[in-house]
Amino acid sequence: MKRPVKTRFAPSPTGYLHVGGLRTALYAYLFARKHGGIFVLRIEDTDQKRYVEGAVENLKQTLQYFDLDWDQGPHFQSERTDIYLEHAEKLLESGHAYRCFCTPERLTEMRELQMKRGETPKYDRHCLELGEDSVKEKLDAGESFVIRQKIPREYINFDDHIRGKMEFHGRDIDDQVLVKSDGFPTYHLANVVDDHFMEITHVIRGEEWLSSTPKHVALYEAFGWEAPEFAHLPLLLNPDRTKLSKRQGDVAAEDFIKKGFLKEAMINFIALLGWNPGSEQEMFSLDELVQAFSLERVQKAGAVFNREKLDWFNGQYLRNLTTLELAERVLPEIQDEDYFKHSPFTGISLEELGENESERAATLHRYLGSVQTRLKGLNDAGPMLRPF
Ligand code: GLU
Ligand code: ZN
Repeated sequence: MKRPVKTRFAPSPTGYLHVGGLRTALYAYLFARKHGGIFVLRIEDTDQKRYVEGAVENLKQTLQYFDLDWDQGPHFQSERTDIYLEHAEKLLESGHAYRCFCTPERLTEMRELQMKRGETPKYDRHCLELGEDSVKEKLDAGESFVIRQKIPREYINFDDHIRGKMEFHGRDIDDQVLVKSDGFPTYHLANVVDDHFMEITHVIRGEEWLSSTPKHVALYEAFGWEAPEFAHLPLLLNPDRTKLSKRQGDVAAEDFIKKGFLKEAMINFIALLGWNPGSEQEMFSLDELVQAFSLERVQKAGAVFNREKLDWFNGQYLRNLTTLELAERVLPEIQDEDYFKHSPFTGISLEELGENESERAATLHRYLGSVQTRLKGLNDAGPMLRPF
């Protein structure tokens, strides 16, 4: 029997939601909704060093702002350490993993030598040869160790919904650390164990994870589990075709919200970064996207993040709102005094708009009606409001 579709968005809480992350979340959401499936939110917070206060709250709020509601979670990996360690133990027993006692100094030396020889640095399996007795000795002596995955020295294949048949060879892949010396699991182990137990059917994620996938496929095999299906989404690019970077403009979803981009415009724009409907239609609501979306129409080539196009979508959606709807969007935000400090309405105080909520709404309504056709974003509203 075919399992019901289940996708997940699995961000690491590093501070803010990148627009690339927003697209990953959107596609995973669309795919689940399209197939009447389940969309899971999972917080991949195994790396305690990278913990950022408030990041999870921010992530949840940003997803909710865009109406990307999840059905399950958020699950926190930091609360599931025992499950991962239990499974690392199983891999040790079955010979798919081994303890490595190498010191950082030895590893550095090894890497330097390999690079001098023109090789890609890779763990040399020094500790794979340790017999049971010496392992026991080292453990008894309290030597610190990591647990490494023993990558099979053979071809590792998988099908990707977007990139087709993928083939790697184990000899090119490093024996990945699964459990760090501090006893915490790495991304690879936690990700595979979770995707299995959370019954994820489709792993939809950015292309930067493609090189991790053969390691994951080897792990599924080692556990004797069926691997999920994979879809690796194309990179987002700057107009000069370099990887999308902060240096060429905003990349945090929340920055776009603050700048007055409508959520409908953002979603429509983001959806078309790497996916196309196969028709001339350009304007899509979230519901229409659910109907139209398919992984087969996601491209392999990087997608250019064209800010002018986003402005264009924003203009379209702004004009399509009734003036009342527009006022309703703006009003709740400007009730907050703080809004004036960073808003397009800078220079105008709440009092100037009216003494109470209904007066403010009326002023806003009148004002917005007169500028709406010229608005490209709520940002333009500020300068236009001044003469008013
Ligand atoms: N935690 C990874 C991230 O931050 C998840 C990658 C995946 O979806 O497997 O993107
Ligand atoms: Zn070692």
